[in-house]
Amino acid sequence: MSKFGSFTFLGMALLVGDSFERERREMVRFQIEHRGIKDAATLSAMTAVPRHRFVAENLLKNAYDDGALPIGHGQTISQPYIVAYMTEIVKPQKGQRVLEIGTGSGYQAAVLAQIVDMVFTIEVVPELANAAASRVSTLGYKNVKIKVADGYYGWKENSPFDAIVVTATTEFIPPPLLEQLKDGGRMVIPVGSPFFTQSLMLVEKQGKKITTHSLIPVRFVPFTRN
Ligand code: SAH
Repeated sequence: MSKFGSFTFLGMALLVGDSFERERREMVRFQIEHRGIKDAATLSAMTAVPRHRFVAENLLKNAYDDGALPIGHGQTISQPYIVAYMTEIVKPQKGQRVLEIGTGSGYQAAVLAQIVDMVFTIEVVPELANAAASRVSTLGYKNVKIKVADGYYGWKENSPFDAIVVTATTEFIPPPLLEQLKDGGRMVIPVGSPFFTQSLMLVEKQGKKITTHSLIPVRFVPFTRN
């Protein structure tokens, strides 16, 4: 192949491969780092995951906007900053297993999967779970397992979890999730009324002792029960 030919081919591959890399770097810098997220693993995961692959084609140009976006069935993919915030707060690390409740688009699961060994994620809407499963497998994530169920009950067979990330608002912390959290584990969960104020809570488990901290006001879709 001529020099020109291979150069053009490489240029095309870069363009087609990830035309949103610049948008993503700017998202990480201006929406996430500038708001105080410092954890290196979280920042590199947010830089790596192609958020535009988790939204519908008509929203491609908004994929890196500073907000949540609709994903169908009345649900949303969370704002990038909130995804980063929730990731950082559970202190994910290599070697860990994490449970997520509310797979939605699969984006938060993919961000966690960049860092930890295994991500188990539960979605109550079958169509969203199926779409997320095909997305994460197309993107090559082999460490994300999705199931369709009411996340209230957690995923006992794979417990205990080093961390649990809940991405729908509950009025109280589901006891099965507390039970499935490892000793020393961390859970982040929006608690409150789905239609009024909600608070993102950090829950820590030390032996039989559970401590909770209210972090920031948030707005999530409701946790729905079957
Ligand atoms: N983490 C998602 C955003 C999810 S929005 C992402 O990165 O795209 C919240 C999701 O929680 C919705 O998809 C909703 O269907 C789901 N959900 C609501 N109640 C649930 C329940 N009881 N169990 C499992 N998933 C639930």
